[in-house]
Amino acid sequence: MEPFWKTKSLEEMTREEWESLCDGCGRCCLHKLRHEDTGELSFTNVACRLLDLDSCQCSDYARRQRRVPDCVSLTPVALADIDWLPPSCAYRRVRDGKGLAWWHPLVSGDPDTVHQAGVSVRGRAISERRAGALEDHIVEWPGKAPRAKRPGNKEGTSGC
Ligand code: SF4
Ligand code: SF4
Repeated sequence: MEPFWKTKSLEEMTREEWESLCDGCGRCCLHKLRHEDTGELSFTNVACRLLDLDSCQCSDYARRQRRVPDCVSLTPVALADIDWLPPSCAYRRVRDGKGLAWWHPLVSGDPDTVHQAGVSVRGRAISERRAGALEDHIVEWPGKAPRAKRPGNKEGTSGC
């Protein structure tokens, strides 16, 4: 039987299915800068203060919007207007018809493959509590498709 992300649209997914689409990479919890004049977006390696930099999970997911008012809750409707999700993001990939990559826990069956593949922010992000000015932390990698490392040392981009 085909898995739900291949047979259902984002709008048709149950709440549980929708939540399980998140691969736990933490990339969307990095601060972005929007340039006033051009509207251009820059990524930084500075993480929201609630992001656990090791697990790459929100440390207070249930209360995140009370504690971080600009934390965006992803929904199928919101997804249509968001331009800052990284290209590796499962929601963006499914929206764009690319399916899920091999490192995705729903494909691999292992929540650790997103870290093993080097897709998550583990080891590459710093907390906003320590970072200082965001302008000093602009990086390109969150906005690029990762060169994910398969176990066994094979390299590849984001294939399914
Ligand atoms: S970028 Fe997408 S897949 Fe990664 S943590 Fe954020 S919502 Fe989940
Ligand atoms: S509040 Fe949680 S989910 Fe929202 S950006 Fe911060 S770490 Fe991510």
